[in-house]
Amino acid sequence: MSPASPASDRWIVLKFGGTSVSRRHRWDTIGRLSKRRAEENDARVLVVVSALSGVTNELTAIADGAADSMERVGKLEQRHREFLAELELDADAVLGERLSILRALATDPRAVERTLPWQAEVLGQGELLSSTLGAAYLRASGLDFGWMDARNWLQAAVLPNQNAWAQRLSVSCSPLASAEWGEGFRQQPARMLLTQGFIARHRDGDTAILGRGGSDTSAAYFGALLGAQRVEIWTDVPGMFSANPREVPDARLLTRLDYAEAQEIATTGAKVLHPRSIKPCRDAGVPMAILDTERPELPGTSIDGNAVTVPGVKAISRRNGIVLVSMESVGMWQQVGFLADVFERFKRHGLSVDLIGSSETNVTVSLDPSENLVTTNVLAALSADLTEICRVKVIAPCSAITLVGRGMRSLLHKLSDVWATFGRERVHMISQSSNDLNLTFVIDEVDADGLLPVLHAALIDSGAMPVEETSVFGPRWREIANGIRKRETPWWHGERARLLAMAEAGTPRYAYHLPTVRARAQALNALAPIDQRYYAIKANSHPAILQLLVEEGFGLECVSLGELQRVFEIIPELSPRRVLFTPSFAPRAEYEAAYGLGVTVTLDNVESLQRWPEVFRGRDLWLRVDLGRGDGHHEKVRTGGKDSKFGLPVAKVETFVALARGLGANVIGLHAHLGSGVETPQHWKQVCDELGGIAERIGSVEVIDIGGGLPIPYTEDDEPFDLEAWGAGLSEIKAAYPGYRLAIEPGRYLVAEAGVLLLTATQVVEKDGVRRVGLDAGMNALIRPALYDAWHDILNLSRLDDANDGVFDVVGPICESSDVLGKRRRLPDATSDGDVVLIADAGAYGFAMANAYNLRALPKEEVLDV
Ligand code: ADP
Ligand code: ASP
Ligand code: MG
Repeated sequence: MSPASPASDRWIVLKFGGTSVSRRHRWDTIGRLSKRRAEENDARVLVVVSALSGVTNELTAIADGAADSMERVGKLEQRHREFLAELELDADAVLGERLSILRALATDPRAVERTLPWQAEVLGQGELLSSTLGAAYLRASGLDFGWMDARNWLQAAVLPNQNAWAQRLSVSCSPLASAEWGEGFRQQPARMLLTQGFIARHRDGDTAILGRGGSDTSAAYFGALLGAQRVEIWTDVPGMFSANPREVPDARLLTRLDYAEAQEIATTGAKVLHPRSIKPCRDAGVPMAILDTERPELPGTSIDGNAVTVPGVKAISRRNGIVLVSMESVGMWQQVGFLADVFERFKRHGLSVDLIGSSETNVTVSLDPSENLVTTNVLAALSADLTEICRVKVIAPCSAITLVGRGMRSLLHKLSDVWATFGRERVHMISQSSNDLNLTFVIDEVDADGLLPVLHAALIDSGAMPVEETSVFGPRWREIANGIRKRETPWWHGERARLLAMAEAGTPRYAYHLPTVRARAQALNALAPIDQRYYAIKANSHPAILQLLVEEGFGLECVSLGELQRVFEIIPELSPRRVLFTPSFAPRAEYEAAYGLGVTVTLDNVESLQRWPEVFRGRDLWLRVDLGRGDGHHEKVRTGGKDSKFGLPVAKVETFVALARGLGANVIGLHAHLGSGVETPQHWKQVCDELGGIAERIGSVEVIDIGGGLPIPYTEDDEPFDLEAWGAGLSEIKAAYPGYRLAIEPGRYLVAEAGVLLLTATQVVEKDGVRRVGLDAGMNALIRPALYDAWHDILNLSRLDDANDGVFDVVGPICESSDVLGKRRRLPDATSDGDVVLIADAGAYGFAMANAYNLRALPKEEVLDV
């Protein structure tokens, strides 16, 4: 190492959290990183560490007087001894003294009353243990490390109106360094130093605690006091994400944030950074970084004062354990002094209020447990005091879900899906911060489970979270953690010349690539657990596609008499046994015709059996059930649950079967289809499992049909569907219900990627700063964007090799404002009239849903084979 004098004044502070100090190889990383930082920056390094992971939880239980405290102390001792063995260090020599202090604390007379100073002493042991063993290991590895007691350097501050609990167990520290402080620090002989997070000196000389997660703040204080070049927070995720990555695997890394946004994200629940850690660094102008100890090569999140500000939602976070106090005034709350009286009582109990909402006669406030000691005793005492002036109701536990980002007020119009998601829950309170950085919803904690991934997706889809801004948003967590499978290069890249020639013959025109359909069919054919495959022809009933799929062994699934007729017109020799008829609210005559043709009929209500017994008497039929919920890429394609018109409720299955038996009809198939574009392979496994259970009860069932709904990757970010995982899940269920044949009926999956829509640009128009490319067809040729806000990639086929250096809205010629195929799309800046534009992945529900609205002609269709 270079001979930089220990008295040098250039510092870098590195903080390592619980998981970062619990494994030997991570201590090797700590040593390596410290050395590298010192050398690269010709600086001195201060390492701040947390307790080994889980230790503070144990110490908290002991401090709270757990009945089995002695046992817990024993386990903690064993844990540290085992870790020292892993580090090949002598446990007694390194930690003997500290472990006996821990044991003594458990039997200390103060333990009986659980005094605050004793609690602080107990809590602080975790960091004292970890820093002591860490320093010993690093020195044994040949590194020049000194050990310091953080309590000799950080002094707990006394803030106005803080109660005794906060003054001992949730302290802030004195912000200013004296000249002696800096000098004393500089004079430490070792070039690299190691100290504890989480603990400070109380003014009575004993220990004070910075609050759960407070080690980040310890590091920030040290960084600020030393005027460090940087404070790095090393943890178990590679940065701050747009949501907790453990809860939202699609959360995006936030590569660069300014202090204010980082502060807001931390305050509203992102545990990765202690909320009090930002202010010291911000005031001292010290940049911060959040990095991953297991993946030190990743760039992480940088937080500083120079980050460019990008408007939009950056993150969504959640805080649990929120307590709402609703106060109904007896008179009017506007009466002079009412609020002052209310808040005086919160102050009396040392409670700091977070959110506030008010109406004519009610004021509701929230208390955040990470900032307050909100025990039942404290709440009872507060309620008793408040009852003197109003009626009080305590609502708990609640979750506060917050959207954070610049310019929330100007984003409200983009949040309709977010409002809709909350619309299903009971929202106790909505609060918008006066700094325009956050919008918070408070709901019951149980209702918040599973909500964040849905909200996160809605924020991206609506454009409220501008993930395309690469100066702020990085990769998704699951991409970093597991790597993701990329979409294959689409077939049309190799067919450009043929497609341009086709376009020359006239647009709008659909082109279908048969080898792609064949490849998808063969992939499904290769899945062992599936016995019968049907193609849902409503997606695309082009004759060439029907013929190809029948040749590949697929049956065909039809939903109307028109589709049945089309099938037998194109393939007259097709056995009716390979055709399903699964209509919705079809007239009686269609059922009669279907039985007349000899195809398999599916029914989903008892009323048809009751009203048209003759149609079904003595017949075989399949039953479609509603499993009580829908799924899929858009509300309009979910086909299960109370709001959906499809399927017989499970509760009516017995009635249905009894009625059918009465008619001598045989229920031989059981079917469910919950929706389209479902991305989780587990979905079908579960559907199959539920159907298996129902089939057992019916007794006569031979086939279980789990429907279709397999998704395709429409966007660059979508991962191709994991057919193997899907097949593996189905195999498991198949093993559980071996007596049934398993059927599927995909549509989109087989044909969507095979089709493109070719259009011609008619003009490029600029209006109020928005450039629009007009095409010779829009929602009349492809209605999915207008109907479902669906995404289709859009490319300028005439200029495919040019850079996409312009931004356009891509629109059609229909007199409807929803006639937009894509907003803010990147296309070559030179895009102009006459260019051929390709709309990708349009093979499913493209031509099939096209219409002649505005009396515009239907698109042409063409196939490409080999
Ligand atoms: P340490 O022990 O290193 O201080 P913490 O557990 O305190 O680590 O913080 C890291 C954890 O924070 C992550 O494992 C993650 O589960 C959680 N977390 C919550 N919200 C976020 C977010 N928005 N970005 C990153 N991590 C988050
Ligand atoms: N021991 C502390 C805790 O678990 C660690 C920290 O402050 O980061 O809260
Ligand atoms: Mg932490």
